[in-house]
Amino acid sequence: MFHKHCPHCQRTSYSATDHGQWLCPYCGKDITNETLYPVDKRQVTAKDSRDGE
Ligand SMILES: [Zn+2]
Repeated sequence: MFHKHCPHCQRTSYSATDHGQWLCPYCGKDITNETLYPVDKRQVTAKDSRDGE
């Protein structure tokens, strides 16, 4: 999983893939050429998991 920082609306966009066109889900701008950052799956899982995991 990957994320990018949108320079147009200053929000963070997440995606499962690092290829293809990337449009910001918040403002709709094309941020395909912005810097790509990997997301640690464990961090995402921990944030999304429920108690008792
Ligand atoms: Zn945006």
